[in-house]
Amino acid sequence: AHLDRIATVDADVHAYLHVDGEGALAAAQAVDQRRASGEDLHVLAGVPIAVKDVMVTKGLPTTCGSKILKGWIPPYDATVVSRLKAAGMPILGKTNMDEFAMGSSTEHSAYGPTHNPWDLTRIPGGSGGGSSAVVAAYEAPWAIGTDTGGSIRQPASVTGTVGVKPTYGGVSRYGLVALASSLDQAGPCTRTVLDAALLHSVIGGYDPMDSTSINAPVPSVVEAARNADVKGLKVGVIKELGGEGYQAGVRARFDESVALLQEAGAEIVEVSCPSFDYALAAYYLILPSEASSNLAKFDAMRYGLRVLPEGIDDPSAEQVMAATRDAGFGDEVKRRIILGTYALSSGYYDAYYGQAQKVRRLIAGDFDRAFGQVDVLVSPTAPTTAFKLGDKLDDPMSMYLQDVATIPANLAGVPGMSLPSGLAEEDGLPTGIQILAPATKDERLYNVGAALE
Ligand code: GLN
Repeated sequence: AHLDRIATVDADVHAYLHVDGEGALAAAQAVDQRRASGEDLHVLAGVPIAVKDVMVTKGLPTTCGSKILKGWIPPYDATVVSRLKAAGMPILGKTNMDEFAMGSSTEHSAYGPTHNPWDLTRIPGGSGGGSSAVVAAYEAPWAIGTDTGGSIRQPASVTGTVGVKPTYGGVSRYGLVALASSLDQAGPCTRTVLDAALLHSVIGGYDPMDSTSINAPVPSVVEAARNADVKGLKVGVIKELGGEGYQAGVRARFDESVALLQEAGAEIVEVSCPSFDYALAAYYLILPSEASSNLAKFDAMRYGLRVLPEGIDDPSAEQVMAATRDAGFGDEVKRRIILGTYALSSGYYDAYYGQAQKVRRLIAGDFDRAFGQVDVLVSPTAPTTAFKLGDKLDDPMSMYLQDVATIPANLAGVPGMSLPSGLAEEDGLPTGIQILAPATKDERLYNVGAALE
């Protein structure tokens, strides 16, 4: 059914970069056979899934939305992917994304943008617009996304779906092609809170292949998703997020969601996190710094594309590298490599990277103080509903501002969820509420999510 749906709508939505119909059907049939022979299978065995193209998949193309990885077929599976397979979940295909997960609209994909299923002239969010769009368009029951600064939560918000960024270290990063290793985290893109919890429990948990993996059981997210009781729970509304710069309809729906929590018995208080005002600036130094280092491995020798420089008979390795990186990387990737290399260079390191790391510490401190007062924090997920394709493409700063509310969680490593908070009155498009919890307390997101759903 999902393959039929893909055949019907994906020419318009363009949420998939690669569909593996044959592989998915074979995996589904294998599950049927095992079930028929009486084997005790995982409860999700046979339920298909789509995977963001930043996760390596054995035998299936993995491009990260970049031309530089065109034609590369990974020889192994990411841990997330091997856990999906172990549960018997067929992989429908790989979803579109901004190149190397840099962006908030999927327009930076080298393979053309994804369109928002609610209105095809609008963006589906980014960088994981493909993973949220396949869910919103019923081209997959659910999908895997990754979130470095908001790439699961902001697309969820603008497509009217659920997205969760687990605690940093809660889901293995082994086989997730790194954008910024200290910020990246994979998580569920779904239509319901319970679905997200089920998927979280499949992909989460300790992995010795990831040195930052938390060696503890997965938080009890499924139980929490079945418990909508928030009586007595303390919910903090973040003062710094949701005011100026946020669309009126986004704010109105957010206020309604907060009122619903209050009606359900939660205690609402306003909490100030003064350092959040500097989160975006710190992120856009830390992320490019880490990205410039992580992307150095695309050197024309190891993976995918190799371009020989024109007019040079016997090019050096450096010349091949330069020609390949020039042809293989898009403008946004080049912009961030230049920024990151500059911020890390001797003489500037302390002034930029060092300062940004100090701000990061202050933001973590704000979260610590806030969670001393309340159980969860809430804010709108994104400042606006889905904007028109092309609207922000020439203005990186306004694109970056899409993540103003989601970035603090990545800088501090705390978990976050976005779930639909209704349609904005002025444009009839989805809005989202973001819920944040202390590190390793992911279950609280699901409890509050269940109360609001
Ligand atoms: N939009 C943010 C960026 O461009 C976040 C990306 C992400 O979470 N991968 O960096």
